[in-house]
Amino acid sequence: MKVLVVDDSATMRRIIVNNLQTAGYEDIVQAGNGLEALSNMAGVELILTDWNMPVMDGLSLVKEIRKNPAFGNVPIVMVTTEGAQEEVIEALKQGVNDYIVKPFSKQTLIEKVEKVING
Ligand SMILES: [Mg+2]
Repeated sequence: MKVLVVDDSATMRRIIVNNLQTAGYEDIVQAGNGLEALSNMAGVELILTDWNMPVMDGLSLVKEIRKNPAFGNVPIVMVTTEGAQEEVIEALKQGVNDYIVKPFSKQTLIEKVEKVING
């Protein structure tokens, strides 16, 4: 399964990628913002995206993906900061499948990933 990890923080990307790899996900591509993500969508079957990023933020990325039939119904997990409940509701409305609040444990991350993959 090809996974796209989107975050402007290289450290956060490394944490997410490491967690995914130890859970057996090996085909992982990375992007530093939404625009970069859009040019790396080929074959992607799952997206984990940060919200706050320069150039194109996570919510704009979600909107672009959901309005483009070429990207299909690829599951999206939004990685948010705490205390952003209203933002989370908006993200879900725009087509995010689930969300994870930072800081998160590996167990939480993998549980959410498996939940969205299995519908
Ligand atoms: Mg960020």
